[in-house]
Amino acid sequence: MNLILFGPPAAGKGTQAKRLVEQRGMVQLSTGDMLREAIASGSELGKQCQAIMSEGGLIADDIVIALIEARLKEAEDAGGAIFDGFPRTLAQAEALDAMLAKLGKQIDAVVRLKVDDDALLERVAKRFADQGRPDDNPESFKVRLDAYNRNTAPLLPYYAEKGLLTEIDGMGAIDAVASAIDAALS
Ligand code: AMP
Repeated sequence: MNLILFGPPAAGKGTQAKRLVEQRGMVQLSTGDMLREAIASGSELGKQCQAIMSEGGLIADDIVIALIEARLKEAEDAGGAIFDGFPRTLAQAEALDAMLAKLGKQIDAVVRLKVDDDALLERVAKRFADQGRPDDNPESFKVRLDAYNRNTAPLLPYYAEKGLLTEIDGMGAIDAVASAIDAALS
């Protein structure tokens, strides 16, 4: 099964993806995690992306598509992927469909976590205090939220038209959101 966890930054996609990995043996493909690893390793890619990421901007489509492509076969062989933070643009969504089709696969479900902006701001302020992630500072977070509203939210009709979209209240406790996701997938 291939699942896209969809939602604005700090909606809880990563937390829920990790739980699904533990419980279902699926593979989490988080382009944000891959990019943070590239930065931590000091690679050329990391150097290229560091400034854009810390300011909250989007990394070029061809870069993130290549990151996913490099891991896709392994994820499909393991039983499917949870896409977390990808796709973020229509070009990425179309590339994902094409890459999966080449492997004889498709997206099976898109679960949107709905969280209002005030709650997101509260969560990210706490995460910034706890973890100090550079792009969680208030200015960068505003840019990330704008990028979500401008580039990523318009993907919702793309998946709704395919009959793949389920919307879930992401405002509740982690366990309540987890139960809602499980219900949507069963
Ligand atoms: P995330 O951990 O998913 O919130 O991603 C953190 C940052 O990584 C984003 O704000 C972007 O700068 C970059 N990024 C992650 N995934 C993508 C993507 N699919 N397309 C473009 N940029 C991305």
